[in-house]
Amino acid sequence: MKWEDNVRKVVPYAAGEQPNKPNMIKLNTNECPYPPAPGVGKLAAQMDCEALRLYPDPDTTLLVNALAEYYKVKPEQVFVGVGSDDVLAMAFLTFFNSGQPILFPDVTYSFYDVWAELYRIPYQTCPLDEEWHIRTEDYRQPNGGVIFPNPNAPTGVSESLDTVEEIVRANQDVVVIVDEAYVDFGGVSALPLLEKYENLLVVQTFSKSRAMAGMRIGFCIGSEKLIRYLNDVKFSFNSYTMNYPAQLLGVEAIRDDAYFKSVTAKIAETRERVKEELRQLGFRFPDSKANFIFASHDKVPAEKIFKALREADIYVRYWNKPRISNFLRITIGTEEQMDCLIAFLKRFMANS
Ligand code: PMP
Repeated sequence: MKWEDNVRKVVPYAAGEQPNKPNMIKLNTNECPYPPAPGVGKLAAQMDCEALRLYPDPDTTLLVNALAEYYKVKPEQVFVGVGSDDVLAMAFLTFFNSGQPILFPDVTYSFYDVWAELYRIPYQTCPLDEEWHIRTEDYRQPNGGVIFPNPNAPTGVSESLDTVEEIVRANQDVVVIVDEAYVDFGGVSALPLLEKYENLLVVQTFSKSRAMAGMRIGFCIGSEKLIRYLNDVKFSFNSYTMNYPAQLLGVEAIRDDAYFKSVTAKIAETRERVKEELRQLGFRFPDSKANFIFASHDKVPAEKIFKALREADIYVRYWNKPRISNFLRITIGTEEQMDCLIAFLKRFMANS
């Protein structure tokens, strides 16, 4: 027996690259191109570093209360974590423990199968239809839980509240997680369903619509019972997941609703404009409600475009995976960044 025989061997999630070039255009990890709310910067500048001597509040009370007030739920229904990845990882550990496979779409956030492998949770993927929509009938088979993003990533496709409810209703004997990382750009939230379903967990993040990917704040809202179970596992794992600055700055971000609404509206407006320009260049894509567009070109292979863009320091995301190997996921940046992208593509497509 070698020590290596007992190592938990996993294939880690591959995050998008984080290059740091002065004039690059970074459209590869769905970050917000605008800064966080002004109050966040102001508070960060005057933060009392003396307080860093102490452990942070393990219950993240201020942030939980701010989120509860904003989303009109009880504080007992809110759980926060270090990015929604942390919340999702905790939720997998807490809720997906039956011997049955959990279900999620075949084309989706590529962290789900990584957590499933890490925790040894059996899983089965359900193929999206030709238009990249969920086929609800696939979620009527016996399972150990369900998770899907809405809008989906990397397609940007949004499912209606009726579709989400149909899946939740058909799966009341397991936990259903709706990952709403991109909901604020035009999707439909499942939060209103919480009144009816005790087994529904809605996960969101500050990383995209609140422009705070670097701060790592995610949260979920569910029934008091679900949140209690989640907290029991979190406190069996690490009491102090969320640091003190993140707790305070998160509250500032939530408080400035006008800024949040203007940033998300601006990004949605840019997205619609870019869709039109891409269409004129011969790209096709599902109708995205997220802060990215999942585009494919009939004549020029996505990988070729990806490489050419990269050479020009324009970063987008490309996966050499089944069904999506001819697509690029393009994050919506500022108007100027998107102008540069379109200008490059015009030149490149004309010469390809
Ligand atoms: N869910 C989806 C669908 C995502 O695309 C991402 C971003 N990679 C996340 C969750 C995690 O984001 P974060 O941990 O920054 O909240």
